[in-house]
Amino acid sequence: MRASLDTIAALAKQRGFVFQSSEIYGGIRSAYDYGPLGVLLLRNVKDEWWRAMVQERDDIVGLDSAILQARKVWQASGHESVFTDPLVECRNCNQRFRLDKLDDPSVCPNCGARDNFTEARAFNLMFRTHTGPVEDESNLIYLRPETAQGIFINFDNVRRSNRLKLPFGVAQIGKSFRNEITPGQFVFRTREFEQMEMEYFCRPEDAPAQFDYWVDSRHRWYLDLGMTPENLRIRPHEADELSHYSAATVDVEYNFPWGWDELEGIANRTDFDLRQHTEHSGIDLRYFDEETKDRFFPYVIEPAAGATRTTFAFLIDAYHEDEVKGETRTVLGLHPRLAPYKVAILPLSKKAELIEPAQKLATELRRHFMLEVDLTQSIGKRYRRQDEIGTPFCVTVDFETLEDQAVTIRHRDSTEQDRVAMTRVLDFLSGALL
Ligand code: ATP
Repeated sequence: MRASLDTIAALAKQRGFVFQSSEIYGGIRSAYDYGPLGVLLLRNVKDEWWRAMVQERDDIVGLDSAILQARKVWQASGHESVFTDPLVECRNCNQRFRLDKLDDPSVCPNCGARDNFTEARAFNLMFRTHTGPVEDESNLIYLRPETAQGIFINFDNVRRSNRLKLPFGVAQIGKSFRNEITPGQFVFRTREFEQMEMEYFCRPEDAPAQFDYWVDSRHRWYLDLGMTPENLRIRPHEADELSHYSAATVDVEYNFPWGWDELEGIANRTDFDLRQHTEHSGIDLRYFDEETKDRFFPYVIEPAAGATRTTFAFLIDAYHEDEVKGETRTVLGLHPRLAPYKVAILPLSKKAELIEPAQKLATELRRHFMLEVDLTQSIGKRYRRQDEIGTPFCVTVDFETLEDQAVTIRHRDSTEQDRVAMTRVLDFLSGALL
């Protein structure tokens, strides 16, 4: 049986993964705070993305562009005019909804009123603020609603400074902001969130093959990190769903507790963005091919994922309960590379003669991994706690350790235990995390 959203949210709070933002003031639904374990899980998800997209490739480079960008960026990209959702208001209870997300577009999900919505109006999702002390239209600026435009406006800077030749990609991870009409489902849809986006520039004629390649590659990324294959699917967009810039889009969807929903969109954005920025800035962003001597706008394939949303999906997917020796336990079966702590070091007793070698081992391993030393409670309870936060290995230091210089390594998933020489623990863990 899969866990409900409430179960996941409760565990997330209790174990320090995710807290509601501003909780002591009643909380807000639009944003969440990542606690000590959540920040590690989120960071590991982002690191795995960066590893696959940048570190392991010789054709993709990284970027970290500003959240605040010239207003013209969003005029050129089309966001100022068309980055909208259809907003309806129930005349009975005055609640507002996003029309395209309603199960039944004639029934209010809050009060049940039928056929009592206002006409849909286009609501722009960009957060507005002002630069400097004067709050007038000339100082209007937006918080970026996606990281992608920061890449397009730096296309020439990045290409020139790094002498890049087509095809090449630029990857970026960072915060984005959308004034969503109805945030909800915990961290699935928030007004402040993190994205992981990559723009892969290629010759127009190569775009369809690159698109297929990236759909496949992104699908595999989730599977390689242990996501249950049956909970993942690829859904091509219908023609009427396509964004204004897109020639083809597929969504990578996850089977959330409320049903299938988007984790990532992969789009063939054509040359729309580079053309628009060329037109609006007056700077020619075409690419010159030195071999063929032609100048043209590259096409771009964009895998655009949500870091916070993906982290949430990994958390849901990892959660399960099983039975060990007649007792039910909760386990987060996270891939070891995603787990917040890679290992917990547990001296069997609080006696100094055990704590000392345990701390010594911890100091050595801390140079390589996040870990926790836990001295509280019985060993059984400590194992349960580590299972619940997804720690793949527990190292127990016991009185025999003093004789044989070895420790017991317990495996989270099988609960099997191996005796390993203390000098071999680092190698063992390094191998398990490859
Ligand atoms: P939706 O249809 O769910 O509003 P979208 O199709 O507009 O999303 P994109 O613009 O393709 O989303 O953004 C790329 C990715 O960024 C999404 O797949 C998602 O993982 C993430 N994302 C977008 N909006 C949010 C949000 N409000 N909260 C959390 N993550 C988000």
